[in-house]
Amino acid sequence: MIKLKGLRKKFKDQYVLNGIDLDIEQGEIVVIIGPSGTGKSTLLRCVNFLEQPTEGEITVGDLTVDFCKASKKDILELRRRTAFVFQNYALFANKSALDNIAERLIVVDRWPKQKAHDKAREILKRIGMEEKAESYPAALSGGQQQRVGIGRAMATGAEVILFDEPTSSLDPEWVDEVLALMKQLARERQTMLVVTHEMSFARDVADRVIFIDGGRIVEQGPPSEFFSNPQDPRTRDFLKKIL
Ligand code: ATP
Ligand code: MG
Repeated sequence: MIKLKGLRKKFKDQYVLNGIDLDIEQGEIVVIIGPSGTGKSTLLRCVNFLEQPTEGEITVGDLTVDFCKASKKDILELRRRTAFVFQNYALFANKSALDNIAERLIVVDRWPKQKAHDKAREILKRIGMEEKAESYPAALSGGQQQRVGIGRAMATGAEVILFDEPTSSLDPEWVDEVLALMKQLARERQTMLVVTHEMSFARDVADRVIFIDGGRIVEQGPPSEFFSNPQDPRTRDFLKKIL
């Protein structure tokens, strides 16, 4: 279970997030959509402390952290319980696919090397990339690189995986294989918070779609209702532009 209470974030003196309250159940797939510059990435980055939130509180499982009073230990523990998949993959260029997946297990979670490598091999199998274990990112397609990015998040056993436009940097030919892997995770009921422009993914896979504008949640609901009967004029306007 993930819970955000009163999350606010300002850059200089401008609030980008203006009081986000969000409750995500275990196994829930939540898709966030909204116009550019509206705070979607900032929201995900605050959950993971890639940005320091200005106000609010977060609960992940049995850990509750006041954003203003977070200790180094709290931040590490939060990062342990959450994993991030980046738009640009953010793989280590000088490490193999296997080592990219094993790295965090060794460095952050302090696993012995052999155990981390065994886990990485198991993940490579699950993402269908066993034969690429020793390949470096430059020798992989965009789709394969992002699958490693997702595999790295899977390996951590994080309670929630945060995806920030995971297919936006991909050539169109690689989008489907990445979405297929995300769908596989959704079937396994991995809790996921996904920012995406892939409306077919939102329709088919999400339990809930959230529309954010101006740093606030404007509207949310199950995709069947959200897409067929949006209530707020801002949601309707946005959907008209992208659908
Ligand atoms: P997009 O759909 O284009 O990815 P977004 O909804 O993810 O947009 P954010 O990246 O969260 O939007 O940015 C929200 C606002 O915060 C924007 O106005 C952006 O310029 C600003 N912003 C983001 N990061 C910083 C930063 N490090 N310093 C200052 N302003 C920032
Ligand atoms: Mg963004």
